[in-house]
Amino acid sequence: MLRLTEIKLPLDHPPEALASAIAARLGETPIAFQVFRRAPDARFRNAIRLTYTVDVTVADETRHPTLRQTPDTTYRPVTSAQGSAARPLVIGAGPCGLFAALVLAEMGFRPIVLERGKVVRERTKDTWGLWRRGVLNPESNVQFGEGCAGTFSDGKLHSQISDRLHHGRKVLTEFVRAGAPEEILWLSKPHVGTFRLVGMVESMRARIEALGGEYRFESKVCGIDLADDRSVRGVRLDDGTTIAARQVVLAVGHSARDTFAMLHEAGVAMQAKAFSLGVRIEHPQSLIDRARWGRFAGNPILGAADYKLTHHASNGRSVYSFCMCPGGTVVAAASEPGRVVTNGMSQYSRNEGNANAGIVVGITPDDYPGGPLAGIDFQRHWEGRAFVAGGSNYRAPAQRLGDFLAGRASTTLGPVAPSYRPGVTPANLADCLPDFAVVAMREALVAFDRDIPGFAMGDALLTGVETRTSAPLRIDRGEDGQSPNTPGLFPAGEGAGYAGGILSAGVDGIRIAEAVGCAINGETLPSDRRIRGGGGSGIYG
Ligand SMILES: Cc1cc2nc3c(=O)[nH]c(=O)nc-3n(C[C@H](O)[C@H](O)[C@H](O)COP(=O)(O)OP(=O)(O)OC[C@H]3O[C@@H](n4cnc5c(N)ncnc54)[C@H](O)[C@@H]3O)c2cc1C
Repeated sequence: MLRLTEIKLPLDHPPEALASAIAARLGETPIAFQVFRRAPDARFRNAIRLTYTVDVTVADETRHPTLRQTPDTTYRPVTSAQGSAARPLVIGAGPCGLFAALVLAEMGFRPIVLERGKVVRERTKDTWGLWRRGVLNPESNVQFGEGCAGTFSDGKLHSQISDRLHHGRKVLTEFVRAGAPEEILWLSKPHVGTFRLVGMVESMRARIEALGGEYRFESKVCGIDLADDRSVRGVRLDDGTTIAARQVVLAVGHSARDTFAMLHEAGVAMQAKAFSLGVRIEHPQSLIDRARWGRFAGNPILGAADYKLTHHASNGRSVYSFCMCPGGTVVAAASEPGRVVTNGMSQYSRNEGNANAGIVVGITPDDYPGGPLAGIDFQRHWEGRAFVAGGSNYRAPAQRLGDFLAGRASTTLGPVAPSYRPGVTPANLADCLPDFAVVAMREALVAFDRDIPGFAMGDALLTGVETRTSAPLRIDRGEDGQSPNTPGLFPAGEGAGYAGGILSAGVDGIRIAEAVGCAINGETLPSDRRIRGGGGSGIYG
């Protein structure tokens, strides 16, 4: 197959126009073609076009010497089980753990997945318990349970990672196999939405089990069993049982604060890392659509518009939009009693009235000196203040943007109805954020209005606080994927500081599964598969 790029067509082109454009470019009608990528080109708001990349099959490729071959994006496993009875453990059934378990199972290693939370449908009920009734289950919520954080999300599946080894393609292909719409393979900014994710997670579990893997829910790992040379011998669960294993994938996500403390106590090498903190902002989605799509606002091909904004404030802080959810809702994402945390999600249709996004400020360990766990204390401090400002009942503090800029508490809210459940309390968000963040955010919100006219409208709604943008620490790992001072422990995914978002966490899970497979077989990872750095940037939308 040959690849054709940059085929541009009007937004409302008839379906047959694509075939005609391909034939015109090739100078012949291809035997077959398939779309590899479709992206809107909205640089000129009143002339939005669609840009296609397509793969074509022609009778004689030599007639097109200037076209390049379609790259082979098939994922190829790095090794396979050689009859060893060793069963690796995977701690955590979020996207990282799921893909680590799937690839280990495909290689024949029969992993055991240990998940502190419940199966996804049980967990959904507990999560709604917080949203509907203000009742938090600290072991079953948005952050803990099968599928984990990604399950109640917008399901955005784009990322800034490069995909040289086709791990990202493998993640998307497996998602389609598990029930995601096929368009995620070719849309430039695909998303799945919350409802579908639940079924997809179940389908992946069935596949892992069919391949010999095993799941144990409500199995919290609360200790790690080390030999005299500090190599891993197994893990201890909170019911007192131990499970022996020489290879343990640690895919616990960014909210496993008790697990981080346990690992720190056990001497596992880790360090504080930068993350971001701020609030969620809500606008009418129609305002964002108009700003982004102009006269094409409401066009079903374009869907609800998103945005990505950054500002370097004069106090040296960077402020950026995070996890933008078009036509979605702000969600309660706390996992500890007495704290309030916001995040965002949407359904596949993205047809709720409000657009929401985190508006967050970058912070570094200099802001919270005190060692690897100090960032967690910092998060807890502001989450606790938000809990109190919201009324100490899991309602979140909220403020009109106009009041936030003017430095006064809101007493009433405007026409932008808060989507956060169990509800919000008008308050002063400056009480729930560090001063430097408030100063930087005030400046940024005004600056963002230049990009999206109306962004700084007085009635836009701010809800706080957004603290779980990424892990506040990084657990060290070497090129073989293992902790340098605790061999056999394979830190992975967002919680270990190597991913940010569903796709990059899944990719990191695959990479770490390859490292585990080679370790079990006593093989060295091929040089192109060595673990260098993380699977993502920590910004997923
Ligand atoms: C509301 C919300 C919306 C989001 N929207 C998007 C989006 O649209 N697109 C996107 O790309 N990303 C989104 N994200 C982020 C994304 O979900 C995360 O980046 C991703 O889930 C990280 O994957 P992970 O597997 O590394 O960790 P997690 O998904 O956090 O999974 C960790 C798992 O480990 C388990 N665990 C923790 N400790 C233990 C223990 N001691 N023993 C056993 N199990 C344990 C947890 O219960 C959990 O299931 C969103 C997050 C939230 C909260």
